[in-house]
Amino acid sequence: MAQISLKDVSKIYKGGVKAVDAANLEIKNKEFMVLVGPSGCGKSTTLRMVAGLEDISDGQIHIGDRLVNDVPAKDRDIAMVFQNYALYPHMTVYENMSFGLKLRKYPKEEIEKRVNEAAEILGIKRMLKRRPKQLSGGERQRVALGRAIVRKPKVFLFDEPLSNLDAKLRVQMRTEIHKLRLRLQTTFIYVTHDQTEALTLGDRICVMKDGKIQQCADPMTIYDYPTNKFVASFIGSPPISFLEGRIIKKGQKYYFDEGKISVKLVEEMYKAIKPYEGKEVIFAIRPEDIYDKLFVSESSPDNTIRAACEVVEPLGSEVYLYLNTGKQTFIARVGAHNRPEVNRDMDLVFDMSKVHFFDPKTEQRIS
Ligand code: ADP
Repeated sequence: MAQISLKDVSKIYKGGVKAVDAANLEIKNKEFMVLVGPSGCGKSTTLRMVAGLEDISDGQIHIGDRLVNDVPAKDRDIAMVFQNYALYPHMTVYENMSFGLKLRKYPKEEIEKRVNEAAEILGIKRMLKRRPKQLSGGERQRVALGRAIVRKPKVFLFDEPLSNLDAKLRVQMRTEIHKLRLRLQTTFIYVTHDQTEALTLGDRICVMKDGKIQQCADPMTIYDYPTNKFVASFIGSPPISFLEGRIIKKGQKYYFDEGKISVKLVEEMYKAIKPYEGKEVIFAIRPEDIYDKLFVSESSPDNTIRAACEVVEPLGSEVYLYLNTGKQTFIARVGAHNRPEVNRDMDLVFDMSKVHFFDPKTEQRIS
């Protein structure tokens, strides 16, 4: 069993940088947890504290039932894979993969068995005699994975393992990591700044900013119910659009009034939005929740708005539209059959059951 628990864990580097601020996180046995956030938010530091590569300034880390604050990295039963692969250039692939086991004095037959098994899983069997410089980036990363696998650790820690690969290879390796994870059935913590990697790989995603955990939940919860404006903006591509405006009440109905456009809220939102009557809010809508009215069979003036289409970006399977209300800009993602004219006004339908509202001061979700 290798659940991992962080209780009020902080890291203050020499010089006073608070890289991680009172992090609380429970990672279940066999769970794939992704730490995601912009550069400098404290992801790597968090991972390195779990690995034992960085001292903990405050709080407690448990791996399984064991408090590991003072346990050296080599005794934590973890294996870490780094962005730069960290392979020994003078050793062959076989030697790189077997090195850790050799140090731990495993019998030769056992080492051979494990390296061959791992090489088989990763499809690098025919490369065992090569040196790292005779391999492509993707192959090197496989060797780095192999070196971690042969250890059969309780926990795998990945620090941006795909960042050095080109876009196509990254997608391919992402699938490989997915398969690997199903096969290995162990606990993973995976650090990335890439929200797509986070959404596709994580059982749960922990979104960080400025050393603080913002939200930790399964990918769809994070996507559909972001706890604050930052999480909403960080997850999703193209990003969610924010419009500033005011809540107004007409009769028994609540509207979001942006100045140029106005849309009616769904009734489910009325209770939560009531305290904001007459006040400023931040309205947020994801690109896929906006439709070209020409292609919508059911719409009403309550959720239809007019905006100028400033840029049209065709992507083959879909089209991104960059729109302007006359006051603020937003993005829509529509089907490939949509080809509106640039610099013309068009009518758009908002799926109001999918929109979000945030408090302009606290930036917390209103729900
Ligand atoms: P991330 O992995 O999210 O990019 P890091 O955990 O590497 O972020 O860094 C978090 C913060 O701690 C950053 O402000 C970074 O500059 C700082 N930091 C990281 N390592 C050190 C260090 N060895 N000494 C001082 N500050 C550091």
